[in-house]
Amino acid sequence: MTPLPHTQHLPPAEHDFGSGVERALAATNYLFNAGNSARYVADVLQGVNLVATKVARTTAPFTGATPAQLAAQVAAVDLAAPLADTAAALAELDTLCLRDAVYFHDTGYAAHLNCPVVIPALVGEAVLSAVNSSLDTWDQSAGATMIERRLIDWTAEHIGLGPDADGVFTSGGTQSNLQALLIARNHTVARLRLDPAAAGLRLPALLDRLRIFTSQASHFSIAKSASMLGLGYDAVVTIPCGEDRRMDPAALAAELAACHAEVLVPMAIVATAGTTDFGSIDPLRELSALSRTYGSWFHVDAAYGGGRIVSTRHRHLIDGIELANSVTIDFHKTFFQPVSSSAILVRNKATLGHVTYYADYLNPESAAKADIPNQVDKSIQTTRRFDALKLWLTLRTMGADGVGALFDEVIDLAARAGGLLAEDPDFDLAATPALSTLVFRYRPAGMDEDAADALNPRIRASVFASGEAVVAGTTVDGRHFLKFTLLNAETTLGDLRQIVELLRRTGAALRTDAAASISGGAA
Ligand SMILES: *Cc1c(COP(=O)(O)O)cnc(C)c1O
Repeated sequence: MTPLPHTQHLPPAEHDFGSGVERALAATNYLFNAGNSARYVADVLQGVNLVATKVARTTAPFTGATPAQLAAQVAAVDLAAPLADTAAALAELDTLCLRDAVYFHDTGYAAHLNCPVVIPALVGEAVLSAVNSSLDTWDQSAGATMIERRLIDWTAEHIGLGPDADGVFTSGGTQSNLQALLIARNHTVARLRLDPAAAGLRLPALLDRLRIFTSQASHFSIAKSASMLGLGYDAVVTIPCGEDRRMDPAALAAELAACHAEVLVPMAIVATAGTTDFGSIDPLRELSALSRTYGSWFHVDAAYGGGRIVSTRHRHLIDGIELANSVTIDFHKTFFQPVSSSAILVRNKATLGHVTYYADYLNPESAAKADIPNQVDKSIQTTRRFDALKLWLTLRTMGADGVGALFDEVIDLAARAGGLLAEDPDFDLAATPALSTLVFRYRPAGMDEDAADALNPRIRASVFASGEAVVAGTTVDGRHFLKFTLLNAETTLGDLRQIVELLRRTGAALRTDAAASISGGAA
């Protein structure tokens, strides 16, 4: 073993017994309670000040640090030797992590569905973690449960799910989709069991014939959910999209008819309202009609596009979402909330019963009968954060229109940037932007498909390593493309122009390098 670098902090050997007791006593000084509130304020403020200073001085979204560099720095920390105080721990953290963090508030960040966060939500985050309510039961949360319930009602109302709607906050869109499909699966299985021939069968025997229909552009968490729910990846029937990257309803109708002919069970149709790559919104009304014809559950994954429920100018683009049996919505994307904050909503509250399990020690059935509001009855989590508080303080401070305006702003920005790229002869734009993403690639005149395919991932990696900007990558029909995901209402068209120029310069330089090395190799 290498010698400990912090041996000077260890107490002398002859004081071992005494120091153990002192340490135990000292540890209580860290507990957050009435006696230590001054320490709480002072220490938390140090952390807040550090982040504020950091953000004020950041001039790029990233430093370009490599995994090897950061792994070595973190591995070198001796976890057996605590530092003297919070200030020292924060100073260490600054070099380990904050210095090289990826900053979503920086206008050079245009990669994934991460938002800059609003301040009221950060206040909420500080409050909810200090009070540390747990939303599984009433006796661990009290008023927090009422705030969560009120926000679920508010969300369901804005979606238009009707008077029987309900739902629960979750850790993210992935979990919301899993819970929605779990409910859809159990709902379907319950119906299959109405047939006397199936009534006595165990669950696995009933899963074989279930199918889930979703578009080729849907989120991978749908396929993963199918796997986790015991159906397998191959229970997902992938429906092609048109040029506009929306599910083709005629293709869906054909697949449903084929499913019916083979005596398979169309368990769920999953529409996406805002695909992760293109922001495209499936034709919700048509898909809903098909789900009614075939008796399928209709789930709408609005993890990304759900922000439109508070949009003042773009709400109509998700018309039809109100027809869903269940909806996924991610507040930590288009509501500018810190991770994590998401919800699943259902049209009929009784269907949440598919995840109810009464545990005598926690949420006995007698409590449900006595109308004690235990949210764990509706959730696949047990201990659960009071994430709803962040949205609550956001709405109570900025109002829904304020949040909607931030999203509207980036939708407009994406449209303008799309115009810019469409006219640029060095770039191909894959589709007209539908929400706030742009999928494009560098391909100047004369460059063939294969060369563009090889070059674009290298442009992306090179720009990431420079730290000057962060852009995403994806594939379109098997070809590599670049992607902007815009969620920062402070980003201007000028900022995006700068990133585009950086991509162009990088692409041109990598091309020249490649040409030089080929001719060098030939010489
Ligand atoms: C982001 C996203 C998800 C997954 O949500 P997480 O919060 O990352 O778990 C699911 N569906 C769509 C369409 C998404 O964009």
